[in-house]
Amino acid sequence: MPPVKHIPGRTCIACGKIQPKRNMIRLVRVTENSIEVDSTGKKSGRGAYLCRTADCWNTGLKGNRVERALKTSLVKAERDKLIQELKELCVGENQQI
Ligand SMILES: [Zn+2]
Repeated sequence: MPPVKHIPGRTCIACGKIQPKRNMIRLVRVTENSIEVDSTGKKSGRGAYLCRTADCWNTGLKGNRVERALKTSLVKAERDKLIQELKELCVGENQQI
């Protein structure tokens, strides 16, 4: 086994695993009560990361983990919008939510 190189990673707020940024989806708090999916990774603001797996979105978004991580609260419509956006991001990646 070759030595494992250190890759800077981000911690998933749902499962707690550390993964390279490119394997993650970033969520950014844009206003007090609004979170956006940051597909470019360049939006400014408080951010949180989720793995690109349906399990982690469900855990992260349907529970209150993302809200705790970003110190905000989401109304249902906002939460549904995020789940929809995450679904669309994974089109072609064989992910089911
Ligand atoms: Zn995860």
